Amino acid sequence: MSSIQFVIDRDPYEREFHQAVSEVLESIQPVLEKNIHYRREAILERLVEPERVFIFRVPWVDDQGQVRVNRGFRIQMNSAIGPYKGGLRFHPSVNLSILKFLAFEQVFKNALTSLPMGGGKGGADFDPKGKSDNEVMRFCQSFMTELFRHIGPDTDVPAGDIGVGAREIGYLFGMYKRLAREFTGVLTGKSLNWGGSLIRPEATGYGNVYFAAEMLATRGETLEGKTCLISGAGNVAQFTLEKLIDLGARPVTFSDSSGYIYDPAGIDRPKLDYLKRLKNVQRGRVSQYVEFCPDAVFTPVDPAREYNPLWDHKAECAFPGATQNEINDQDARHLVNNGVYLVSEGANMPTTPDGINIFIDRGILYGPSKAANAGGVTVSGLEMSQNSMRLNWPREEVDKRLKGIMKDIHRMCRETAERYGVPGNYMTGANIAGFVKVVDSMIDQGVV
Ligand code: NDP
Repeated sequence: MSSIQFVIDRDPYEREFHQAVSEVLESIQPVLEKNIHYRREAILERLVEPERVFIFRVPWVDDQGQVRVNRGFRIQMNSAIGPYKGGLRFHPSVNLSILKFLAFEQVFKNALTSLPMGGGKGGADFDPKGKSDNEVMRFCQSFMTELFRHIGPDTDVPAGDIGVGAREIGYLFGMYKRLAREFTGVLTGKSLNWGGSLIRPEATGYGNVYFAAEMLATRGETLEGKTCLISGAGNVAQFTLEKLIDLGARPVTFSDSSGYIYDPAGIDRPKLDYLKRLKNVQRGRVSQYVEFCPDAVFTPVDPAREYNPLWDHKAECAFPGATQNEINDQDARHLVNNGVYLVSEGANMPTTPDGINIFIDRGILYGPSKAANAGGVTVSGLEMSQNSMRLNWPREEVDKRLKGIMKDIHRMCRETAERYGVPGNYMTGANIAGFVKVVDSMIDQGVV
């Protein structure tokens, strides 16, 4: 196999999965040409086939006594370098294609962290928005009733993702513990009181900003004073905003699925604290931000839109932090025409292939998600280490390790890109570095 056609023929409806595989396949062509033994090993065919997939019914009872049914999934994609590791997503759009793309990306991302973690992903087409805490708890308990037999601290260690935050991880962990009759580090993103790691909530957003700072440093620049566009208003976006503010940047946007906020005066600490309370405690919508900042502008989502106006403001840096394919080719053109010369991806695969081509052709600093957002899984890996050792590292220690690993990932992507004749192309660098580590480990372990 050397083309995406094999994957399309096999699973014709999995568009997001084709997109993720296709990006990697294009990048690794030079490696395949140099290593013809990969062909005999059918390494690509093995890489795109999950080791295991579970799909299961998740029945639960809502507050009105009505029985509801959702579909649960866990993709155990690749365990060549460690137990499967990757988040759980609860969102109505969840399906096999989206989770396979996320699991596939996760395999390479985890390899880049240098920690011993394989790749997996899971979730359900359940929407926690608008549900009571009790409904979310009943759903999580039903979901874990099936999932618990497939996971374990040395087998598969899920974490959060869209729609799965501290509340959901708590309910999931409680049920796991009850069913398995053991207290182990089977999930990451746990609360501090019962096995969580300091800096885990912050890790993806902080890590993304650390990666961006490394990219800027190659041009002798810092984030100080830079105007930044951010999308999303959840975990990743909030801590991207926080670190940008800490480093003296000027973030001016954020969003949720109802629309986006543009705050031309810049988002500072008190405004961010308001946003965190709004999203994490009141579980409100971003439009409510204008009650606190009347000078900010809320623009609702237009379902017929061809581009996202959030990306059409003057700025120097952009940090997509909501979801996949949120920057299309028009958005990418708007970004570069408005002066953006750094895009660092907090969300997974937020840019379409045409959008990526524009970034690469225009020579901007483009940090692909599997490198730029690896901070989350990095600290999840550190949480697993702390759980195994039965101790907690202080905040400074975890942050220092996170920063060090993001720096190493940046260096690895950069050096690999240079070695393969595409200097400055972090996407090719990340894909090749992750790929070589995973497939060489697979070959070492025989045909399994
Ligand atoms: P959250 O659920 O905390 O926040 C997601 C945010 O994105 C919300 O503001 C949500 O709006 C918005 N959003 C989600 N789906 C859509 C959509 N289809 N259209 C428009 N807006 C949308 O999730 P996270 O912050 O954890 O995750 C965000 C991204 O980062 C995802 O791509 C995730 O895979 C990636 N990521 C997360 C990591 C983590 O550690 N949490 C690690 C690495 C990557 P609304 O509330 O209205 O739905």
